[in-house]
Amino acid sequence: SDIRVRKPVSEDEWSDLSIHVNKLLDKIDKYVTNQKQFVEDVSHELRTPVAIVEGHLKLLNRWGKDDPEVLEESIASSLQEITRMKGLVQEMLDLSRAENVDIDYKDEITEVYSTTEQVFNNFKIIHEDFDFYLDSDDDGESLYIQAFRNHIEQVLIILLDNAVKYSRDRKEIHVSISKSFTKVEIAIQDFGEGMTDDDKEKVFGRFYRIDKARSRDKGGNGLGLSIAKQLVEGYKGAIRVESVINHGSIFYIEFPILNDTRQIYKSKQIAE
Ligand code: ADP
Repeated sequence: SDIRVRKPVSEDEWSDLSIHVNKLLDKIDKYVTNQKQFVEDVSHELRTPVAIVEGHLKLLNRWGKDDPEVLEESIASSLQEITRMKGLVQEMLDLSRAENVDIDYKDEITEVYSTTEQVFNNFKIIHEDFDFYLDSDDDGESLYIQAFRNHIEQVLIILLDNAVKYSRDRKEIHVSISKSFTKVEIAIQDFGEGMTDDDKEKVFGRFYRIDKARSRDKGGNGLGLSIAKQLVEGYKGAIRVESVINHGSIFYIEFPILNDTRQIYKSKQIAE
């Protein structure tokens, strides 16, 4: 009784179906290639720090342990590489978790002004050698977006960290928040290295660094902007960069403003 009698598939239906199935197979194929590439990139990224630590341990093992200077230097370098690996592992986890934010955090809301101002103020304290400017249209009214606050903080930290890292002599960072009827946009501007048009597209890719050697010195592994992009887009926002090589960059993130006051009210009650 469970067996249903099916209508034979017509030519047209069959052709529709096969187009659909082929599209699906293409998607799966892309996904698998993407995952393979990721595993390759990760292995590649881990190989260098592991090799460095191995080199130091071998050196210590042979004779280095008897020379206090070598001993100290090897331990310091190894610790530095291990810190890098820890950071890499954490960032890979962040990236992987950022894939489902739209589902996992769909009830979270974030107030944009206070969140941005808080991260901004922290940076001001940490980087005393920089001049920070905040231009906000904050008029005391709350401005909500649908997102988990920690994630918005994380995106701002990634962009501000980069602004600091890739600045040169002009140590100045400008942050601005502006809203329209439906969107809010946060801009983060530096006056540092900048980038070419070609790199503007690529910097959001996983493990992409413009100057690999130099970024490595600065502790980068090329995952920050891909995490930021994944998070922003997960919340139906957008991220982009305007940049002029040797003059500086402006990174923009924008989000749809949340207008469902009922939901905001409910969440605020829970928070209080
Ligand atoms: P990283 O950890 O290397 O900083 P990101 O994914 O955050 O990784 O950035 C990728 C690359 O984009 C960086 O290595 C750097 O070359 C470039 N980049 C990012 N932010 C800036 C900026 N504000 N100015 C110039 N170049 C930048």
